[in-house]
Amino acid sequence: MFGLMQEHPLLVASIIQHAARHHGQTEIVSRLLDGATHRTTYAAMERRARRLARVLQGLGIRPHDRVATLAWNSFRHMELYYGISGMGAICHTVNPRLSPDDVAYILDHAGDALLFADTSFTALIEAAAAKLAGGLRAVVLLATPEQMPPLALPPGIAVLCYETLMEAADETFVWPHFDERTAANLCYTSGTTGRPKGVLYSHRSIMLHTMAENAAAVFGLRPGDRVMPVVPMFHVNGWGSAYAAPSMGAALVMPGRHLDGASVTRLMNEERVTVSAGVPTVWLGLLAHLRASGERLATVRRLIIGGSACPPALIEAFDREYGITVEHAWGMTETSPLGTFNTPIDLAGEDAAAALRRKARQGRAIFGLDMRIVDDEGRELPWDGVTSGNLQVRGHWVCSAYYGDAPGSALTGDGWFTCGDVATISPDGNMEITDRSKDVIKSGGEWISSILLENIAVAQPGVAEAAVIAAAHPKWDERPLLIVVPRAGTEIDPAALLAGYRGQVPNYWIPDAVVMLEELPHSATGKISKLDLRRRFRDYLLTRAADD
Ligand code: AMP
Repeated sequence: MFGLMQEHPLLVASIIQHAARHHGQTEIVSRLLDGATHRTTYAAMERRARRLARVLQGLGIRPHDRVATLAWNSFRHMELYYGISGMGAICHTVNPRLSPDDVAYILDHAGDALLFADTSFTALIEAAAAKLAGGLRAVVLLATPEQMPPLALPPGIAVLCYETLMEAADETFVWPHFDERTAANLCYTSGTTGRPKGVLYSHRSIMLHTMAENAAAVFGLRPGDRVMPVVPMFHVNGWGSAYAAPSMGAALVMPGRHLDGASVTRLMNEERVTVSAGVPTVWLGLLAHLRASGERLATVRRLIIGGSACPPALIEAFDREYGITVEHAWGMTETSPLGTFNTPIDLAGEDAAAALRRKARQGRAIFGLDMRIVDDEGRELPWDGVTSGNLQVRGHWVCSAYYGDAPGSALTGDGWFTCGDVATISPDGNMEITDRSKDVIKSGGEWISSILLENIAVAQPGVAEAAVIAAAHPKWDERPLLIVVPRAGTEIDPAALLAGYRGQVPNYWIPDAVVMLEELPHSATGKISKLDLRRRFRDYLLTRAADD
């Protein structure tokens, strides 16, 4: 016997319909490319998203067509999210930090019919368009007629103005109902090796992810919150904030392209931001700015940090110096992205050092997703907080195959997705990533966690950013090499830096050498690119031994 409850397909347009109806006057504030501040509301945005659906129909877009975006976080990107997937087409967010080659590859691979782009990307679009095999019919620049820059595209690709098209459209579009399993969004992984691969989210997966993200133990957004997604909307749907905030009636503050410490501080204070989310690199920059300028964040209560391991020093500094709680999250493009979340709790009798170690772990699986660690033969490993293994996940918003591949082809025989991360899980279910499997250091047959070594380095005074990579070694195969960026105006003594490891890790974990750089290479999603560092410094210890 079936239950007798209503059934409605889980469709993303229902989020913006809810926000417009029940939180209609709640704001979306956007810092635009020219530095101006734009304000709108959920009610107005929903009307514009319906206008956009009309524009898309007028340009020949049908359900299931792919429509690309190349844009910073702004109200227009929100309109695109809802207008495109709401009418049944697929919103393909393209990462503008990729090379023109990769952008051309993914536009072709996705079969995008249109590209909606910010005007700051004209050079990238021209370079990518020259390499396109075909299929793209038009580039729509997110601008008013007065703001339209020159854009030279190959014959057959039209250049159009967003606001001109919007002006000519009406608001009579009615959000359609269709199967909740329909694809809604497409996002390619940044692909540190090989070509980027497409993850195709469904309406259902996005809706379930949104509900899970909204739980009090996870993002826990509420009316009155003013949420600033520093994470770009082209990185795994902005970690879901473009859905979570309107569904809960929380305001959105969109930072645009300027993510340096000074710009982020100014916008957070001007717009009374309460919660924000982004990768550690951004928060390290923000912390350095606050310390140097003496400024404070007047209203921010929580920073959600993920995308790479969050150093405990960052958690402690924000808590002690600024009264801001850092919440550590783990996830990936293939998991929509949320997998685990370290909800802040106080445990009776726990000392400060143990609490900090616990808070720095990546957290427990959120409801709707399961995880396990396995050995190389796929046997499940114990949750003892010590044994490390390959992390695998399964759940309602975990990818089962990459775009264009056979159904289920990304899964193990028993239905799990292998994340490419190495992790431990403590008896109470708190997971800790020790390394990306490509980044592990194996010295004389023993594993060394590069993340732990990096966390210790950034806790040292004078270190702005740090990476530890496996360098080739004649005797031990691999040894850790520490690469650091000193804080502006500070000198670092390599011997003192290495001495700082004593007592914190086994002696054989201590890096063999320190390399100083002015800047670390970052990947398209703002993570330290260890691949680049390995290419440059893989033979550092061998060359040094030869020189000695
Ligand atoms: P992406 O799909 O580009 O978001 O990359 C996902 C990968 O980022 C994961 O598989 C992890 O290797 C890494 N990652 C994400 N969050 C964290 C975290 N909190 N700590 C350590 N690594 C993380």
